[in-house]
Amino acid sequence: ENYKAKSTRYNEMPYRRCGNSGVQLPAFSLGLWHNFGEFDSFGNARGLLRTAFDLGINHFDLANNYGPPYGSAEETLGRVMNTDLALYRDELFISTKAGYDMWPGPYGNGGSRKYIISSLDRSLTRLGLDYVDLFYHHRPDPSTPIEETAYALDQLVKQGKALYIGLSNYSVEQTRKAKSVFDDLGTPFIINQSRYSMIDRSVEEGLLDLLSELELGMIAFSPLAQGMLTDKYLNGIPKNSRASNEKSYLNEALVYEHLPKILRLSKIAISRGQTLAQMSLAWLLNDVRVSSILIGASSPTQLKENMNTLKKLDFTENEELQIRKILEE
Ligand code: NDP
Repeated sequence: ENYKAKSTRYNEMPYRRCGNSGVQLPAFSLGLWHNFGEFDSFGNARGLLRTAFDLGINHFDLANNYGPPYGSAEETLGRVMNTDLALYRDELFISTKAGYDMWPGPYGNGGSRKYIISSLDRSLTRLGLDYVDLFYHHRPDPSTPIEETAYALDQLVKQGKALYIGLSNYSVEQTRKAKSVFDDLGTPFIINQSRYSMIDRSVEEGLLDLLSELELGMIAFSPLAQGMLTDKYLNGIPKNSRASNEKSYLNEALVYEHLPKILRLSKIAISRGQTLAQMSLAWLLNDVRVSSILIGASSPTQLKENMNTLKKLDFTENEELQIRKILEE
């Protein structure tokens, strides 16, 4: 059936400026790491993208190797662009990345000019797009000079294949170095994508401060710790959850390691009249240095639940104290 985006799509979502750039990002963005591959239901993937856009989630985040198999998440978005979203291309902010394992041999991984340039060309073909809005180096490659990677990224911007550049999983020192190379080139480097949740707060040890000092944006991935910070695992590991999927990075041992903390946080969420997911997302949104929160979802219902976070973002002093105590233990 034909898709027509809801006219209310911009009514609820706050948009936040990404560093000192001209770009505003939705408070919640959608990542296509899981649930958009060739082996996942296309109908569900399409429903997720439609629901997201109707909610004002207009930023979709991909990488060359999201699937499985590698490349298939980009193909899925390409299909849905064709059927549903092509009309809305100028309202969408689409990112992809290169940096992890993509194809065999020495040119399918890392940070070489050879890999970076061919990877974006392949991504554009799979997506069926002329350009992406944002292209990332997915992880630092210590064996390639940062200048080589940065020059390749800059060239892609000059060719019109990417509008902005981002870095992901770069440390404080690596980000600082890269920023000075990009500044020399005049590259529109605007954002760092890093893991950030109540369970993994390592970006609080310097990276968030650096990004605000350099006036760069920050997008937080795995904000629900891949689903651990939701009500999903409170009573064990349900079937069809990410932790029950042998191919995923989340597993039972990790869930059980964090369960005591999760249970205590969940009690506070209940007393706030929120789900644990909503409380965990609200917690991150309260940091103004975070430009956007990059969530994943396996169903449209999850997206709606997560969007309802916006109904209650504030924490009382007492709640804040209690939560900090749990996080710091
Ligand atoms: P999250 O921490 O948001 O985890 C998402 C998963 O949590 C969902 O797939 C679902 O899992 C579960 N979930 C979400 N909402 C709810 C809810 N309301 N109730 C119950 N369960 C819920 O993020 P991801 O780990 O998926 O990462 C998000 C995005 O970040 C990725 O798609 C990718 O774009 C990016 N990313 C980037 C990385 C990088 O190196 N740059 C690395 C990792 C991610 P279930 O299937 O169990 O229902």
